Amino acid sequence: MKCIINGRIVLKDKVVDNCAIIFSDKIEKIVSDSEINTADYEIIDAKGRLVAPGLIDMHIHGYLGADASDGDADGIRKMAEGIIKNGVTAWCPTTMTVSKQEIETAFESVREVKNSGEYYGSRILGVNSEGPFINESKKGAQAGEHILKPDADFIKKHSDIVKLFTVAPEVDGALECIEKVSNETDVLISMGHSDAIFEQALAGVEKGVRHTTHLFNAMSALSHRSPGVTGAGLSDGRVSTELIADTFHVNKGLFGLVYKLKGDKLCLITDCIRAGGMEDGDYTLGGQPVHKEGIKCLMPDGTIAGSVLRLNEAVKNLYENTDLEIYEAVNCASLNIAKALGEDKEIGSLEIGKRADIIIADEKFNVYTTILGGEIRYKGE
Ligand SMILES: [Zn+2]
Repeated sequence: MKCIINGRIVLKDKVVDNCAIIFSDKIEKIVSDSEINTADYEIIDAKGRLVAPGLIDMHIHGYLGADASDGDADGIRKMAEGIIKNGVTAWCPTTMTVSKQEIETAFESVREVKNSGEYYGSRILGVNSEGPFINESKKGAQAGEHILKPDADFIKKHSDIVKLFTVAPEVDGALECIEKVSNETDVLISMGHSDAIFEQALAGVEKGVRHTTHLFNAMSALSHRSPGVTGAGLSDGRVSTELIADTFHVNKGLFGLVYKLKGDKLCLITDCIRAGGMEDGDYTLGGQPVHKEGIKCLMPDGTIAGSVLRLNEAVKNLYENTDLEIYEAVNCASLNIAKALGEDKEIGSLEIGKRADIIIADEKFNVYTTILGGEIRYKGE
């Protein structure tokens, strides 16, 4: 059995000092440091740093040159291994609105890697299918020619591997699709890439929408007489919302306000593309050209095209730009996402009986150690 000592343990509702966490593949005990006989355990010294639950990235397209839409199993493995260094212990490879055949090939590659278990890194929960059932007028960096009419049977057919998908509730056939998927599967339905008016968005929620794809970005904006998808996502208590907290996609001055409104339904995401973890330069996203410069990824016409954010940086950005407690900021990248995906019995917080997915990080959220199911999978300085 292993034991982390000398850490500041980030629980779901507080941070406890001078405590130790004992684990096998699951978390066994959290006790006072003084109760530990170090000879009984394989000891990991946290050196006074934060000991937090592994992070969960539910919306990430690519990393280190690979992209989930490529349909390449080795690319999925490369991403899984790469993001473990960012403290991410579970994730949803995220496809773009590419051709239906390419989407199905991408699903198959994730299925192959997940089901075989032949990968070393962060645990795959299932695919996030961003599109193809979106509104052309809010396509953002998605390819307009591959947008399809919402089709519940397509999602049902792949519900063994799809964890969540994005739909624009106002487009023809969307409400029927939402209702059928909601009634017949466990797939999380997210509204996004949508120009719905407030009432249309709420009609989607009535039928089963429970999540919002990157709040503010690629959706009808909030204005006082026409609150749009943004207003619906913020105001409806049934709906969780994604936020790209890179300080570029959304002004950091809004982070605290969004948290006040959404609380434990705020889910930090990266929306990272294949340029993540790479040098500045030219890349592609869903077959379209993208230029990366610093934290910005833009298409030639200036459209924002995903990010190069790391999820541990998102936690730091949220923490530093709000008055949140550290455990609240961490929950936004772990427990809240586990809840949205229906995985919170297993993962998302440091609680006895949950999987030992644990990270050690400093107060800037630089990650020093990542433990996956009780095994150390990354160890920095
Ligand atoms: Zn995306």
